[in-house]
Amino acid sequence: PPVGAGAETIAAIATPAGRGGIGVVRIAGPHAQAIAKAVLGTVPEARHATLGGFLAADGAVIDRGLALFFPAPHSYTGDDVLELQGHGGPVVMQMLLRRCVDLGARIAHPGEFTQRAFLNERIDLAQAESVADLIDASSAEAARSAARSLDGEFSRRVNALVGAVVDLRMHVEACIDFPEEEIDPEDIEAQRRKLAAARAQWKALLAEARQGAVLREGLTVVLIGRPNVGKSSLLNRLAGEDLAIVTPIAGTTRDHVRATISLEGVPIHLIDTAGLREGGDEVERIGIARTWSAVEKAGAAIFITDASDAPHSDEDAIVARLPADMPLVRARNKIDLAGGVSGSAPIGRGIGLSLSAKTGAGVDLLRDWLLQTAGWQPHGEGLFMARERHLVELEAAGRYLAEAGNESQVFELFAENLRLAQQALGRITGEVTADDLLGEIFSRFCIGK
Ligand code: GDP
Ligand code: ZN
Repeated sequence: PPVGAGAETIAAIATPAGRGGIGVVRIAGPHAQAIAKAVLGTVPEARHATLGGFLAADGAVIDRGLALFFPAPHSYTGDDVLELQGHGGPVVMQMLLRRCVDLGARIAHPGEFTQRAFLNERIDLAQAESVADLIDASSAEAARSAARSLDGEFSRRVNALVGAVVDLRMHVEACIDFPEEEIDPEDIEAQRRKLAAARAQWKALLAEARQGAVLREGLTVVLIGRPNVGKSSLLNRLAGEDLAIVTPIAGTTRDHVRATISLEGVPIHLIDTAGLREGGDEVERIGIARTWSAVEKAGAAIFITDASDAPHSDEDAIVARLPADMPLVRARNKIDLAGGVSGSAPIGRGIGLSLSAKTGAGVDLLRDWLLQTAGWQPHGEGLFMARERHLVELEAAGRYLAEAGNESQVFELFAENLRLAQQALGRITGEVTADDLLGEIFSRFCIGK
């Protein structure tokens, strides 16, 4: 589309609300030049920092600062962009923004600058999403991987797979109109090889995207077990502070206490729960019901038992009630009382760890398990940021590629599944998008980005 054509001019304060050394008002669209002329007296030289006064309608100076002008199409959004860098006070920034609005700009919606960059094809959708991920990054590792996605690393990988699928699709579609006996068996063999290669490529991409997604979304882990086994103590030990109330009276944790810890930059959301046991009063029963609903939403569980206590008959029933595919660690706590040593061993479902929340012995083994369960790999240099949305589309593409293999005898179905796989991948980069999806993605941005 012609860059900026017919578009409105948008403006926003791009720096955080409040006071700061510098505040930036950003303007994008066809009125940017006219606004520059009115506010600065002249349109600044392209891409040069120009110092000057920012003028009100009556000629009074609102502020003095730097102006930067980026003519279309070589700007962030692809339209004419003007940045006014003034002093970061809320009143002066508001006055400057107000002046731009009086000159024909409209206040930008959250994410609208980046949305324009996408619509003007400056960046693709996965890159646009990584802008928000970079801003929201909760760790250095997450920031690095978001920067790699912004740079286009993830999109290049997705596009390479799309290329492989399109190439195969052309081969298969070329066969559709031929009678079977005229098709060279070597052609069929080549198609099989290409499909296998595309599926291998897909598998590697999904694995890496999952790792990237964990950096962004984190892993939610519930701590469950009978009352008094040390759930809250273990949460506190992991979190390194007294977040949950620890008492020797059974049934104290009646509501969820949450703590997000960062292991190697991976957010781990820990949820303490009410002790699971039969009986108890009404409040306790409500707590137990909540525990099970917390379990359903979690990605992994730590089941805690008291090593200094005899095994309880209901423990196996608790484990049996956990979702079958949920990663599980069985932590034997209080080994300082039981006189055992810390260590790990596989037991039945999941892995068994012996530890002490009180002394901290064996807690490192639990941290290692959490990282491993989160899909973390040391030296994950090649990571790129991925979102849940990307995983959903990648998984869909994988199903279509598998189906393509099942249907490879019938060229029409083979080709159709390849087309669907291509489409799912296209939704990641925004090659194929629905408007409501765009609205959903960009509305979560901050203003001015
Ligand atoms: P919860 O009901 O499962 O959350 O258990 P709490 O964390 O409230 O702990 C119950 C009691 O066990 C408290 O008195 C804790 O101090 C004690 N406790 C927890 N973990 C340990 C441990 O590893 N060793 C010892 N000796 N006591 C512990
Ligand atoms: Zn507790």
